[in-house]
Amino acid sequence: MQQLSPDDIRGSFINATKGEAGRVPLPGLHEVIWEEREYLGWRDQQSPQRGYLVHWVGDEPVGLMLRASEFSLNPGIAAMCSWCRITRRSDEITLFSAPRAGQAGRDGNTIGTYVCDDLACSHMIRLLPPATPLQDPHELLAARIDGLVTRVQGFTAELMKTA
Ligand SMILES: [Zn+2]
Repeated sequence: MQQLSPDDIRGSFINATKGEAGRVPLPGLHEVIWEEREYLGWRDQQSPQRGYLVHWVGDEPVGLMLRASEFSLNPGIAAMCSWCRITRRSDEITLFSAPRAGQAGRDGNTIGTYVCDDLACSHMIRLLPPATPLQDPHELLAARIDGLVTRVQGFTAELMKTA
């Protein structure tokens, strides 16, 4: 993805008030390898239920404020992230909900999705199996990137629907 500045990030949240957006703790941007990210996602160390995601929609940075459910999936089973479609341990997949943009969100209207608890889909899709005659890891990665971008953009589009 294209690089994001702190100002890009602060100004990007579509489902937060200006005050809330101003209090978002920014991640260490100098450590980010942008070409290996489809979105920038991070959790809030101070309030563990908070999560944040910023990605580009066209040439606009769009940020989402997320809330992690306190209820966990049954331990000991496998679960799949609905964004990167990687199967992980159930305690590594969390239900996040996000208030819709605008008045709907202020009225308490949210949508939810089960995704990687650490918001590290970009890292997960780059853990590739070894090449086999039937599978080229580079093709697999290209397909995973495509799918991840499409599904995260779809979630954002759903969140921005006003009617
Ligand atoms: Zn994921």
